[in-house]
Amino acid sequence: MSEFDLIERIRARAARRDDVVLGIGDDAAIVRVPAGRELLVATDTLNRGVHFPENTLPAHIGWKALAVNLSDLAAMGGTPAWCTLSLSLPQADMAWLDSFLDGFVELARLHEVALIGGDTTRGPLSVSLTLVGHAAPDQALLRSGAEIGDEIWVSGTLGDAAGALAQWRSGAQVAAPLRLRLDRPTPRVDLGQTLVGVATSAIDISDGLMADLGHICRASRVGARIDVSALPLSNALRDRFDVAWRHSLQATGGDDYELCFTAPHSARSQLASVAEACAVPLTMIGTIVEGTSVRAHMGDGSPWMPTTTGYVHFT
Ligand code: ADP
Ligand code: MG
Repeated sequence: MSEFDLIERIRARAARRDDVVLGIGDDAAIVRVPAGRELLVATDTLNRGVHFPENTLPAHIGWKALAVNLSDLAAMGGTPAWCTLSLSLPQADMAWLDSFLDGFVELARLHEVALIGGDTTRGPLSVSLTLVGHAAPDQALLRSGAEIGDEIWVSGTLGDAAGALAQWRSGAQVAAPLRLRLDRPTPRVDLGQTLVGVATSAIDISDGLMADLGHICRASRVGARIDVSALPLSNALRDRFDVAWRHSLQATGGDDYELCFTAPHSARSQLASVAEACAVPLTMIGTIVEGTSVRAHMGDGSPWMPTTTGYVHFT
């Protein structure tokens, strides 16, 4: 079994698109860029033990490698189109690759993303994916557009993936709905595209709400005030963690891949239609204020302090 057998297996199952002039097989791929659109490019790497627990199913690794990149494009309001896949594998394991491709291909088909190239090498298990999409010129959602007085919104529910990790780390039985949020996150691609022209800024929540909202604050030169008791909560999380613990999972836990965005108060009725059109709940959690940081408070206004602030590599 060689590198080329693996590549052939990948090529045979990769989703295709009409705008791919030349896909896997040559020294570089060629794609036809839609007229009048700007390209958006995002890359994310998943390392074993860092980005997914050792016991993660290969199919879930395949799903997640694409999902985290789709989430980045969603946060920009872009339309995903093509991707390349860099695989580092400890050995040429066809069964592992087939399962990996099951998850990868399933999500690629859902979003009509073609796999057009990549690299296959031997080494510690690591999956790096580059996703290319497009958007109308000057229309992409940036981190830098939040304005004082804007309201802060999040999609879906928060803290579920971090809840699964907390249970896994403590050796407890991991609740299935939480584990699914960790292993098979739902990138909010439709929502991101629908928010173009409505939201003033956006980011996807990969490192934790407070950390990621902090990036919006820095890029927009503003502060944020959020109400921790207003953060959207799943039944699965509510049933398994006490209030204090779940507040910190919701406010600082990573890996949710929900969108956090800002919009003026006047956009409220429009956002209700967006939520309905995209079939995803949207929750208002706070306001953009003068300042430089994210401050959190409880429902009664008393300050709330996180015990951690989000995931940071190399600390
Ligand atoms: P080169 O040595 O010219 O980079 P490779 O032998 O690495 O070529 O790759 C051959 C072809 O297979 C290229 O088109 C490359 O993009 C594609 N390819 C290699 N690995 C992967 C992968 N993991 N996923 C998708 N395409 C891949
Ligand atoms: Mg190569």
